[in-house]
Amino acid sequence: MSTPFLPFGLPDIGEDEIAEVVDTLRSGWITTGPKARRFEQDFAAFLGDASLQAIAVNSATAGLHLALEALGVGPGDEVITTTHTFTATAEVVRYLGADVKLVDIDAATLNIDPVAVEAVIGARTKAIVPVHYGGLAADMPRLLATAARHGLKVVEDAAHALPTTLGGALVGTLASDAAVFSFYANKTITTGEGGMLVTRDAALAERARVMRLHGMSRDAFDRFVAKVPSWYYEIVAPGFKYNLTDIAAALGIHQLKKARAFQQRRAAIAARYDAAFAALPLVLPPRPAAGDTHAWHLYAVRLADEAVARGLTRERFIERLFEQGVGASVHYIPLHLQPYWRDRYALEPAMFPASQRAYERIASLPIYTRMSEADVERVVGAVRAALG
Ligand SMILES: *Cc1c(COP(=O)(O)O)cnc(C)c1O
Repeated sequence: MSTPFLPFGLPDIGEDEIAEVVDTLRSGWITTGPKARRFEQDFAAFLGDASLQAIAVNSATAGLHLALEALGVGPGDEVITTTHTFTATAEVVRYLGADVKLVDIDAATLNIDPVAVEAVIGARTKAIVPVHYGGLAADMPRLLATAARHGLKVVEDAAHALPTTLGGALVGTLASDAAVFSFYANKTITTGEGGMLVTRDAALAERARVMRLHGMSRDAFDRFVAKVPSWYYEIVAPGFKYNLTDIAAALGIHQLKKARAFQQRRAAIAARYDAAFAALPLVLPPRPAAGDTHAWHLYAVRLADEAVARGLTRERFIERLFEQGVGASVHYIPLHLQPYWRDRYALEPAMFPASQRAYERIASLPIYTRMSEADVERVVGAVRAALG
């Protein structure tokens, strides 16, 4: 009997999540309400910093858009981010009519290269958006110092980074202007679709809350037009429809409780892969600093020179994994290769040598909590065989 296909990723939804969703469905209140509020409070408590506000949204893309909008990014501005990311990181800048300045990555960490950032800062630069690639923290001390020196805002794309630490501090509590987490189906915790914007900036938080729901200012109403009936509201801006439903928040409340246990399971899989692949012609994912946590959203290996010299391509490597019933993926096809970004900014691979080289050799292996020990060993065996 042939073994079933091992998919690249699967969500880990338990009975607690299912019961909470059913409770929401029976409650009579299914859109944004008490459970979204509770998820926000739990999320802020998880980060453990009372000065933070957490704002639930229906995607990380929405959260990134809201953060940059609240910081005043607009036409004429430029925002620096990494080419080695998903398009959502950059597209939100274009929503606001601002320009994207893509830069290369550090070849060792696959995170945005702070030296490359420094090199492209100009008069129009308004903000930097680092991504914590795969769940490994970007070089935030350098990026924050650069931003401070040039008066720039920093919004972290923390879509992979729950929970990630840097110098012992959780991503979400660092000294940026905002951080945005994703709860998309394949992320480290999931609500199907969803995200969380966290910030210490009270003005940013207030603007994001208003813009999250059509630009309705209930707070302004409460402050200035007290004691009129509750049907009254004012529209203070052309806002968006980015609120998280209570159905989704019901999932998030229980997923969040498991976030640390999930991370530990993924870290154990990563450790097993590291040991099993140590002698193979692969460049393994970089480790975090001693004492720090890697969220292990991705476990991305790169073909080493030896493997490439023998004629193995990344395409063939992934094909061989699939032939053995093991799913794999590529993170990412860099933005400089995507037709829209390439053509809009006349980008060429030679401008991003580290990202380009990584892209040509990289493959992400399955790393998720529903994998059994046998599944992990299947991946190990398949990788060995695929390398020949
Ligand atoms: C998933 C992802 C996003 C977008 O998250 P959504 O919740 O799907 O909007 C943004 N940036 C990165 C790096 C991602 O992986």
